[in-house]
Amino acid sequence: MKETICTIPINDIFNLHDGCPFCRMYEMLENQYATFITGSAMMDPETRVATNKKGFCPRHFEKIVEVGKRLPVALILETHLDFIDKEILPKKAGKPDKKALHKIEEITDSCYICDRIQFDIQHFLQTVFVEWANSEEFKKLYKSQDFICLRHYTEVMKYANAKMPSKHLTDFHKDTLNLTRNYLDILKSDTTHFCRMFDYQNRGADWGNSKDAIERDIKFLSGYLDRLAT
Ligand SMILES: [Zn+2]
Ligand SMILES: [Zn+2]
Repeated sequence: MKETICTIPINDIFNLHDGCPFCRMYEMLENQYATFITGSAMMDPETRVATNKKGFCPRHFEKIVEVGKRLPVALILETHLDFIDKEILPKKAGKPDKKALHKIEEITDSCYICDRIQFDIQHFLQTVFVEWANSEEFKKLYKSQDFICLRHYTEVMKYANAKMPSKHLTDFHKDTLNLTRNYLDILKSDTTHFCRMFDYQNRGADWGNSKDAIERDIKFLSGYLDRLAT
């Protein structure tokens, strides 16, 4: 895969305190890719071949429709449909061909944008590990994040286990786990408060920070659901 076309400004992402920094990075990248595909890369044959072959996941189909103009989106779909017609879907009915079904499954399960982001995330994490190990200032910035969502806690720690020098790993894990665990405590308390507010004995009581507990729970548990963010 060729080098990323996206720039990942690590300090910009970590300087903004608003939810999980890795979700922010993910959202920034998917916006950049959707804009790139429906804009400057529209006529780039290499990109078109890749989008024809991979297609998009439901989230990123929605994203290209959201950020792209109608014609570029339709042109991308036109050649994608043509690829499916010529290369993927069987021409004639008959005994179902396992290979052909597998090819269809592959295309419905793959996404050009998800694949590009996955590749970029590894580079981004590498930079995060280096900054965290070498800069006290960045370490403070990392610790001061609102939280790290459950999905990114796992992703970050899996990659850290494989790539981070072991002398930093314990402390890095401590900082990362704190961000996830402390927020879990807050969510548990807000969610319990939310549920209790439905008890008639609490009629008229203060909702505190619990009003958007459901949306924050889901965002924490699944990551990426920016539309649910409040
Ligand atoms: Zn996240
Ligand atoms: Zn996707």
